[in-house]
Amino acid sequence: MMKTSIIGFPRIGAHRELKFAVEKYLKKQLSLNELVEEGKQIRKKNWLLQKDNDIDIIPSNDFSFYDGMLDTAVMLNVVPKRYKMLGLNDIDEYFAMARGYQNDAGDVKALMMKKWFNTNYHYMVPEFNDDTEIKLAAEKPLNEFREAQALGIKTKPVIVGPFTFLKLANFTGQKKMIDFADSIKKAYIDLLDKFSQLGPEWVQLDEPVLVTDLTVEEISLFVDIYRDVLKEKHGIKILCQTYFGDIRDCYETIKKLSFDGVGIDFVEGKNSLSLIEKNGFDADKVLFAGIINGKNIWRNHYKKTIGYIDELKKYAANIVLNTSCSLLHVPVTLENEHNIDAYKKYFSFAVEKLHELKELKIILRDTVFADTEEYKNNVELFKTQRYIPNKEVQSKIADLSDTDFERLPVRSEREKIQKREFNLPVLPTTTIGSFPQTKEVRDNRFAFRKKQINKEAYIKQNKKFIADCIQLQEEIGLDVLVHGEFERNDMVEYFGENLEGYIFTENAWVQSYGTRCVKPPVIWGDISRRQPITVDYITYAQSCTKKLVKGMLTGPITILNWSFPREDISLQESAFQIGLAIRDEVLDLEANGIKIIQIDEAALREKLPLRKADWHSEYLDWAIRAFKLVHSGVSAETQIHTHMCYSEFNDIIKDIDNMDADVITFEASRSDFTVVDALNAANFATEVGPGVYDIHSPRVPSVEEIENEIIGMLKKIPIDKLWINPDCGLKTRGVTETKASLKNLVCAVKNVRGRI
Ligand code: GLN
Ligand code: ZN
Repeated sequence: MMKTSIIGFPRIGAHRELKFAVEKYLKKQLSLNELVEEGKQIRKKNWLLQKDNDIDIIPSNDFSFYDGMLDTAVMLNVVPKRYKMLGLNDIDEYFAMARGYQNDAGDVKALMMKKWFNTNYHYMVPEFNDDTEIKLAAEKPLNEFREAQALGIKTKPVIVGPFTFLKLANFTGQKKMIDFADSIKKAYIDLLDKFSQLGPEWVQLDEPVLVTDLTVEEISLFVDIYRDVLKEKHGIKILCQTYFGDIRDCYETIKKLSFDGVGIDFVEGKNSLSLIEKNGFDADKVLFAGIINGKNIWRNHYKKTIGYIDELKKYAANIVLNTSCSLLHVPVTLENEHNIDAYKKYFSFAVEKLHELKELKIILRDTVFADTEEYKNNVELFKTQRYIPNKEVQSKIADLSDTDFERLPVRSEREKIQKREFNLPVLPTTTIGSFPQTKEVRDNRFAFRKKQINKEAYIKQNKKFIADCIQLQEEIGLDVLVHGEFERNDMVEYFGENLEGYIFTENAWVQSYGTRCVKPPVIWGDISRRQPITVDYITYAQSCTKKLVKGMLTGPITILNWSFPREDISLQESAFQIGLAIRDEVLDLEANGIKIIQIDEAALREKLPLRKADWHSEYLDWAIRAFKLVHSGVSAETQIHTHMCYSEFNDIIKDIDNMDADVITFEASRSDFTVVDALNAANFATEVGPGVYDIHSPRVPSVEEIENEIIGMLKKIPIDKLWINPDCGLKTRGVTETKASLKNLVCAVKNVRGRI
């Protein structure tokens, strides 16, 4: 009979219990014992849920108080000295690494944080210094194994694999990955030895970096490490678990090593099946087949899955039904959703995915499976169309032609026309869009949501905020003004709520990092715009001033990337649908006299495929077109801005230029302005506003500091292409520091203008 397993389960709890417990602990409102107890309860609940659903191979050590990579760093003693010197207890040292630490004695920054592959999860980057000494401290994984054992469950401990750990780490000194190979091998051998005394059947070593581009040297390092680690397994079966893609060039390599099981992703791994068909799968190994999507929230299509498994059976003698990746990336349970009853049967969150594994096991056990209740119900679900298609949107998409994606005249022509029209000073100053979301702003929105005030009163109050914001910007002396985004809680949710085709959950939280969770909206059907979304507020803002007000929209790729996407149509098609809706908004703003429109693409880079070979064909080609679709209809006199929340786009700099915006603003201050060199080298044609100060900190930059930054940038960027602005929206900042910083910014620009 086929067994079932999962790679990991969400640890935040169905009501974000972990988030609240950790936050309280950090505010000293909860004792260490209480925090530990909360963790225990969550783990217990998760294990029992899996047991109830008959999961055969249940993971442990997938729990974490903050992040699994951070846990692994602690397990291996990869703890930089600056944290050890704080003299804290273990858990506080751990949180110091996660969040930084500040007291009278000193101020220690947190470890770096990075996006976990192509997900919205962020991990803490382990930091190796030359004096780092890998030493095993395996209490956490061992204890969690014992804890489950006490509940009668023999788990599969889940550990970040040594190769992935090294590959994702940051090496600050002379020593590199390879210099730590021997000591990390030893630590993992010790770990297996320790586990052998407890007797798990399986240990899962996560090696997701195998689905990314690796050099020949890196692959040989992988082989070198595992050849030794796998020598002494002490009777434990070792599972090499990969996810988020296919293992392409590593397939043969893994095959040659003596793993007992290999976990392969058949959802995102487009070549996974053909790799097996081509190279076979050893009869003495177990294939952990990732067939339940661990990232998306839709019900599994059993018929298709069973067909897939039938195919796999031809090559693999032993198959375990598995999720494609950890369920960390989906919400916990549908049980707490009360407003989406009509939709629920189509959805599957983490708990429901456990049901699916259970059902698939039952179906596959039966020789006449087509007669099982479970199978028939699932067939029924997919028999009829789940939603009413929007024929108009679909035919608009079908009718798109190349001209819809090209804005004319060309940018160099437009640049001349716009300079003449706007007559802005050199080094025009602006901001990224949002202004501080003060308590009054949030109270107003809250009162409206709770129906304590009516729509008119709500809008009136927002307009008051807008008028004040415009006045403030005039006082400060900025050149291009914004309305301040007081009506928005979130740049994607706000548009989602105003688009047909979206639905919203109450409790479908997903961990983004540590204690931060996000609740992505769900794209349910074809997307269309009901009515103008921003026109009223933006035209009101423009009516308050003679200066130019920049309209503020979120772009289609960001809206798509921060939502749960559909599975029944391609991402490209969804992106184009959203693109058409936002395009209508752009044209309406233009028709209502708005001359500058910013279309934010904060999340464009996030979903870049993991392998370079796929960047264009699978993503950028259509993503860039979706953006161009949004603005190709405006006249030459209308200036299109875009904004990106990062500056690591050196490797896609040409693509960013090809978005054909007129101006792009982005984060630069935290990356030491290296991007400015890249812009220069690429002959970047779009006008640019690399952020001159970091809005993520309350610190007020001095006039002199900003002046120096501008002067530095002017060495690399022609003066007629440079804009001056902060590096992101100001919504998380306080009013006082915002005013002070912007005044300094304007003053710095005036000083520089005076000298040229
Ligand atoms: N316009 C948005 C703002 O200013 C952009 C936010 C972002 O880049 N994430 O808040
Ligand atoms: Zn930003």
